[in-house]
Amino acid sequence: MPDFREKYMIIKISNLSDGVHKFNFDESVEKIRLGEEFTGSINVDVELNKVPLQVILNVHLSVKTIFQCDRCAADYSPVLSNSYQMVYFFGKDTDGDDSLNVTYLNAEADKIDISSDVRDYSILALPMKKLCKEDCKGLCYKCGKNLNEEECGCTENIDPRWQPLIDIKKN
Ligand SMILES: [Zn+2]
Ligand SMILES: [Zn+2]
Repeated sequence: MPDFREKYMIIKISNLSDGVHKFNFDESVEKIRLGEEFTGSINVDVELNKVPLQVILNVHLSVKTIFQCDRCAADYSPVLSNSYQMVYFFGKDTDGDDSLNVTYLNAEADKIDISSDVRDYSILALPMKKLCKEDCKGLCYKCGKNLNEEECGCTENIDPRWQPLIDIKKN
């Protein structure tokens, strides 16, 4: 049983000089508690820009997933990617800025933990509609064959008056 309280994507900032620094993380999806739609490892590129009293992170992540197509039920494995920016300020939140992409750090903070942000932005990258390909033909409503793989011939005998309804069903 993995210990989920353990943090895996941590950037030490205590000894960083001002300027741009780059980091890369490659962790298993289980370690940052991504669900079963995710598989393998997640790769995270971080560009960190340190300026006095601020750290600005530009994060790009890519992660492999396993989906079942909504239309034809085939399994497919797209790689999803997402990017975000997070600005960390040292000191107390004085102006009540509750912007999503701003985090306040204790003045003595010596590290930044990006695990939960990476997790959130991975989940945000999940598509609403899961299609193995844009023009997936789906399954024949009559015989159940995967129409991406073969023509079944069922549609040839369809009364053309029903065609608009069938098109709606397909989508
Ligand atoms: Zn499909
Ligand atoms: Zn058919």
